Amino acid sequence: MLSALTISQAHDKLKKKEISSVELTTSCIERIESVDKKLNAVVHRNFDRALIEAKKIDTAGKFDTPLTGIPYLAKDVYCEAGIPTTACSNMLRNKDYIPPFDSTTTKRLKAAGAISIGKTNTDEFTMGASTETSCYGVTRNPWDTSRVAGGSSGGSAAAVSADEALFALGTDTGGSIRQPASFCGISGIRPTYGRTSRYGVMSMASSLDTIGPMCKSIEDLAIVLEAIAGKDMMDGTTSEKPVEPYSKLLRKDVQGLRIGLPKEYFIDGIHPDVEQCVRAATETMKSLGAKIVDISLPHTKYAVATYYILCPCEVSSNMARYDGIRYGHTPNKPKDLIDYYQRARSEGFGAEVKRRIMIGTYALSAGYYDAYYVKAQKVRTLIRKDFDDAFSKVDLILSPVSPHTAFTIGANSNDPVAMYLEDVFTIAQVMAGIPCLSVPCGYSKEGLPIGLQMMGPQWGEAGLLSAAYAYQNATEWQRKKPHVS
Ligand code: GLN
Repeated sequence: MLSALTISQAHDKLKKKEISSVELTTSCIERIESVDKKLNAVVHRNFDRALIEAKKIDTAGKFDTPLTGIPYLAKDVYCEAGIPTTACSNMLRNKDYIPPFDSTTTKRLKAAGAISIGKTNTDEFTMGASTETSCYGVTRNPWDTSRVAGGSSGGSAAAVSADEALFALGTDTGGSIRQPASFCGISGIRPTYGRTSRYGVMSMASSLDTIGPMCKSIEDLAIVLEAIAGKDMMDGTTSEKPVEPYSKLLRKDVQGLRIGLPKEYFIDGIHPDVEQCVRAATETMKSLGAKIVDISLPHTKYAVATYYILCPCEVSSNMARYDGIRYGHTPNKPKDLIDYYQRARSEGFGAEVKRRIMIGTYALSAGYYDAYYVKAQKVRTLIRKDFDDAFSKVDLILSPVSPHTAFTIGANSNDPVAMYLEDVFTIAQVMAGIPCLSVPCGYSKEGLPIGLQMMGPQWGEAGLLSAAYAYQNATEWQRKKPHVS
């Protein structure tokens, strides 16, 4: 099945004219048609347009860049002109929102020759850790369809894991690339905040949102990141720093690399299989020449609480644009303007979005602003300082991505705090804006994938990807595939 190839394998075959882009794209389409009824990973399909593009690329016959003719899926928050994009919310779904413009990332991918074949499922406006708050229903994990694929980029993770596309785009505000990648046995990177452009990607919390690729190998992550990273005039938070040629800097050894193991990430309650796999991965890195150092990130325990103040504050502001007039659901026969607004928002948004708008509005209101928002910003600085201190002693930090494997659908649905605690290992990095990734590091006794988290210093993508590549090269985990039919 061609859709099971990695980007670099497919590129090789396209270049040698062993396969065509139409064949590759058709293989992804057929795969989506055969398995997606079960998984519910793809929410908008763009097949006709994709095949026209593939044909054009085949006719041109030039496969000189690694993404030429490669089909991919984007999370349902990336705007693409002419293709429905709804953030999996009734707010936009009820209006059939079709963006008139392209996000910078999908535009850059198009320029690099990649072919968008559709949109993937997500928690509503990316708020969640399980893809259960989507208005299209939950995405199922390809390794065990009674379990979640993780979230919020659960659709992208499940789709890549089940070979519905060669790669997918995700967004990570508090773990949404890394945790679903870990639950589905694929690799995903959250780059440094400011490395990739957020322009045209529907916002949740603008000071935390970061966009990145989800792939079948580390080499593929490097290829996609190289194509999408870099300064964008449309996003003032992107950096002028030149983008390194990540895919050319990958090395097979980690000789002399200093790796920190933070004691705060090996806590009570972590699943023994997860701990065992992460410890074994540390040994592998050691055998490849790394030096392991015990470190401490003392403010880790405040990360979740801090995030669940700052994130809702930014949510309450970002969601204000969905008033039913400029964007969003239109209520039926409103009595007056206030009724119009109230019903547009109460009918359009789901429970988790409303919860965050309320918490954020409360925390930002006069009298509470200093006690919650300002305090949380101060703690954010302390968390960031933890990483500055740590990276003066080590080059890389290793930890689990999640304390456990994919959980059963519904397990946390009625308990928002339990769902927030899912993010326990993936929040501190976003407070600091550092790059981090998830790479498969084993399987639980029940056969569920486990992810290893690697974190690097700001702008340290090249070193981070290279270390992950060395690890992946020394192990077989990413080769295992789920059985879905
Ligand atoms: N689970 C986190 C949240 O609900 C992270 C979501 C994300 O990264 N988009 O906010």
